[in-house]
Amino acid sequence: MPPSLNEDNHISVKLSTDNLSERLPRPPLTGRCQCPEDPVVYNIASEPHSLNVCYCHECQRQTGSAFALTLVVPSTGVKMENPRMLLQLRNFERRTESGGIRGGVFCSNCGVRLWHFDPAKPEWTSIKAGTLDQKVDFGAAQHIWTKRMLNGIVLPSQAEAHEEEPDSGPV
Ligand SMILES: [Zn+2]
Ligand SMILES: [Zn+2]
Repeated sequence: MPPSLNEDNHISVKLSTDNLSERLPRPPLTGRCQCPEDPVVYNIASEPHSLNVCYCHECQRQTGSAFALTLVVPSTGVKMENPRMLLQLRNFERRTESGGIRGGVFCSNCGVRLWHFDPAKPEWTSIKAGTLDQKVDFGAAQHIWTKRMLNGIVLPSQAEAHEEEPDSGPV
């Protein structure tokens, strides 16, 4: 569908929210940290659950940017390319704005955050989508914590958006 102008005269691309899951990347997927030599490499063999754009302030701080982009996948499908790479990883945990715990896993050498996890939902892993070798479709994302969104960001007019976190499903 071609771009059109919405009521605020912003160019918008019409997106249908009912087929978002069909536009998620298909396994097998791979990703890596930024180390030029001996990077941490992971493989994903399971079908992704969702792609999330989070505008919360902690995601802004963690990324040093306007939002975080994560691909939620079943943890059972995530494997290291080589088990010794686990030694290169470190864990970090913090409280979330909604009162839960958010864990982050990063490379101890280059500092790149590779995935997030919720200790209360260990069955899900939130891959930091920018570390994937494959491109994701930004239009397939649901947008969360939009009440923390920076001024000047315009959501696609048909995008699935939540002021905070959705009531159900992992993020
Ligand atoms: Zn690294
Ligand atoms: Zn966030």
